[in-house]
Amino acid sequence: MTEAACLEYLTRLRWPDGFVCPQCRANVAWRTSRGLWCCQRCGVQTSVTAGTIFHRTRKPLRLWFRTMWHITTQKYGINALGLRRVVAPGCYETSWQWLHKLRRAMVRPGRDRLSGYVQVDETYVGGRKKGGKRGRGAEGKALVVIGVEDKAPKGIGRIRLQHVADASAKSLGGFMQAMIEPGSVVRTDDWSGYTKLPTLGYKREVLPSMELKLPHLVASLLKRWLLGIYQGAVSGLRTLPTIWTSSHSALTAARHANAANFSIDSYNRR
Ligand SMILES: [Zn+2]
Repeated sequence: MTEAACLEYLTRLRWPDGFVCPQCRANVAWRTSRGLWCCQRCGVQTSVTAGTIFHRTRKPLRLWFRTMWHITTQKYGINALGLRRVVAPGCYETSWQWLHKLRRAMVRPGRDRLSGYVQVDETYVGGRKKGGKRGRGAEGKALVVIGVEDKAPKGIGRIRLQHVADASAKSLGGFMQAMIEPGSVVRTDDWSGYTKLPTLGYKREVLPSMELKLPHLVASLLKRWLLGIYQGAVSGLRTLPTIWTSSHSALTAARHANAANFSIDSYNRR
């Protein structure tokens, strides 16, 4: 993978529907000679790595990609010594720092909970048919709840995912308590499973389903990521959710949810 390909990849992850200015939300930008995006409307310059763990890195992106690939494919975890062979031969210090940074990015869900404004929605993963009946579960599919900190206008914050048995108030409430700090403003659609949120200490804001853009985005990334894993389609997709947030990633969470019951078979049968 070349450096340009890595950048291109990050760009597609960050702006799947094309450039969006972090300041004014405009969609037109030109590239500066330093590879930054300069918004044509407000002039703000932004880099594709801003807000990710790659921000201001002096190391080539392809080294980061290779490292993440390495870490995510190790069955029994990884230590700095092992990483040194991949990352920086001869430099224990560097590989230790990298490991630390990546570990922080892959921290276990539930260790610290989301707060502030959080968008929550569920999605079905797996199965051969599209859609699925809400609440009761659909055949061959796994229901995953997705919580995403809404940092508008800055965009996306931390992410939490959990596989749940169904979309009942009990299951969704369990997700909330494990993943979201009480007192947070939780934005959901009008599904009845969310009506008891205030009794759990959350403020609930009901939005039209189509406005829950953040969990929808994460859902589509999650699905692409899983396809990449189970079909070996695009190996690079393995690292995908890692890239999204500076302090946390969907990667471990998805893997967690995965262990809990993703319908892997249905992917292989496609
Ligand atoms: Zn702008």
